[in-house]
Amino acid sequence: MTLALADAAPLSLDAARAVLRRTFGHADFRGMQAEVIGEVLAGRSAMAVLPTGGGKSLCYQIPALLRPGLGLVVSPLIALMTDQVAALVQSGVAAARLDSNIDPEEKAETWRRIERGELDILYVSPEGLMQGWMLERLSRTPLSLIAIDEAHCVSQWGHDFRPEYRMLGRLAELFPRVPRLAVTATADAKTREDIRAELRLEDSAEFVDSFARPELVLSAERKKGSVEKRVVELVTARSNRSGVVYAGSRDKTEKLAEALRAAGVPALSYHAGLDKQVRAQRLEDFLQADVAVMVATIAFGMGVDKPDVRFVIHADAPAAIEAYWQEIGRAGRDGEMAEGITLYGAADMSWALRRIAEREMDEAVKQVQVRKVRQLYALLDGVGCRAATVRRYFGEEGVEACGQCDLCLGQVETTDATEAAQKALSAAHRLQGRFGRGRLVDHLLGKTKEPSDWETSLSTWAIGPELSAQQWRDLTEQLLFDGLLREDPNDGRPLVGVGEAEAVRAVFRGERRVMMRKHAEGAEDAPRGGRTRRRDKPAAATLGPSDQPLFEALRAWRAAEAKAQHVPPYVIFHDRSLAEIAAAKPGSRAALAAINGVGEAKLAHYGEAVLQVVGTFTA
Ligand code: ADP
Ligand code: ZN
Repeated sequence: MTLALADAAPLSLDAARAVLRRTFGHADFRGMQAEVIGEVLAGRSAMAVLPTGGGKSLCYQIPALLRPGLGLVVSPLIALMTDQVAALVQSGVAAARLDSNIDPEEKAETWRRIERGELDILYVSPEGLMQGWMLERLSRTPLSLIAIDEAHCVSQWGHDFRPEYRMLGRLAELFPRVPRLAVTATADAKTREDIRAELRLEDSAEFVDSFARPELVLSAERKKGSVEKRVVELVTARSNRSGVVYAGSRDKTEKLAEALRAAGVPALSYHAGLDKQVRAQRLEDFLQADVAVMVATIAFGMGVDKPDVRFVIHADAPAAIEAYWQEIGRAGRDGEMAEGITLYGAADMSWALRRIAEREMDEAVKQVQVRKVRQLYALLDGVGCRAATVRRYFGEEGVEACGQCDLCLGQVETTDATEAAQKALSAAHRLQGRFGRGRLVDHLLGKTKEPSDWETSLSTWAIGPELSAQQWRDLTEQLLFDGLLREDPNDGRPLVGVGEAEAVRAVFRGERRVMMRKHAEGAEDAPRGGRTRRRDKPAAATLGPSDQPLFEALRAWRAAEAKAQHVPPYVIFHDRSLAEIAAAKPGSRAALAAINGVGEAKLAHYGEAVLQVVGTFTA
């Protein structure tokens, strides 16, 4: 323990609040932080599911500082550890990491600090931690706690299973007296249960906060025409903002990035096929830049803590609702408005289902994965509030509509299409699943080229003149999403057949209504996601115009400082802190200390410099 706190009992919540203020510069705890910290300070293990940006790290960092001994933090990714350690060091915390990227000399020095009891927090990878020699060395070290970050990785019911996490179950018997804290942002009820069983936390308290992210404005649209063109449109409508575009393949990330650069957007691509150094460089460029767009596969993810990402666009649909929420959740971490826009199509769904079918997994696990895919498309193509659907999916109760997603704003109008659906379903039935979607539509319209006598003799031949070909295509796609039609991949030339029998019968009996989205004429060209929004403003924009020059000057100072130290600008100060400074124009160290995010160490390091910048604008 390096902090002497004379004014509060060492393991009280008051002591924790004092650390929150002095070291991290925050006025008070948020959400469930205080409850979780209280539990760990008392020496008890726990599991905490808090939303992205909810401040999970402080839940273990503060107890690690207050309890005697070294706090171990298990984290799945080096990038994640690097970032957190850099931020802690900026706040004056004795933190280090041990991973395969650290050179032997630095490792030896870290061990010396551990042995002298000088280190408060150590970040390790799961496989690094579970090596025999490491465990042996740590068994001789007093530990304050063991935190397991991104704990959903331990569960194969989750969406990001990592086999090496499974070994962490042994920590319970290896360190029986050390409290363990499992934290994650995304885990449905089943995954939570699994985390507790795997990590031996059955008898521990479980804290599950709301999954609400009120700063996120969600929308989704079916793919129409060129995805590349649409993505360029969406991104250029958001110029001067940082964002992430997720694409389904390496090749696509490269092509999209190129198309964006051609449109004048500073876009980079990122995927696992790139050289390690190139990836590290691009990640750093993205983090350091004021404006950058990263076009990436999901290899770009965990540990991307850039707080000012203003939009996340899925050029291809994500894998499941967990992934959707986590990927979209990378936007707006600073609490300012941000957008999540998803492009999806029935082809994405078929592809996802096919991949599951081909994987070698338990049948039971497969079924869960298939259900997850269906739930995702029910969300994307549904008609109810998107944010509310996600929160209910995670088991939240009493959830209200967000009032700001595309569905809440009524940008998607629906009509009752039950009768048309009955026609399409009987046509698929009569055609015996032998043809693709195009042929089904032609059949309904009586437009099949050179139809056979058999086809024209069917009762469904040409029964659908009331809808256009496009409307029939939309409806067919929707019926696929709903599971009322099913597509057999047939080696890339998918055939359409009737789906779940019970559900189809319900439609025929009129017990189940099919609501279809109304697409206005020319809707494809409307800038659906590009509208301006009331609250959609980055931090700086909330400043008055007269404070803007000071804000820019502070950013310039921060950029230079970050460059000199080789750290991302936001580990020095968040935009939000700089905006507060620009508005408040503190004239003294005491006034500066009152700004959110200015703790003791930052005040000591940067106080003079910041006051000087402010001084040049107030003199
Ligand atoms: P996550 O839960 O996503 O891991 P972090 O721990 O990275 O979230 O915290 C997200 C951001 O919120 C950080 O910038 C952190 O400094 C800030 N933060 C955490 N706790 C508080 C608090 N009590 N008051 C103000 N800001 C906080
Ligand atoms: Zn909504």
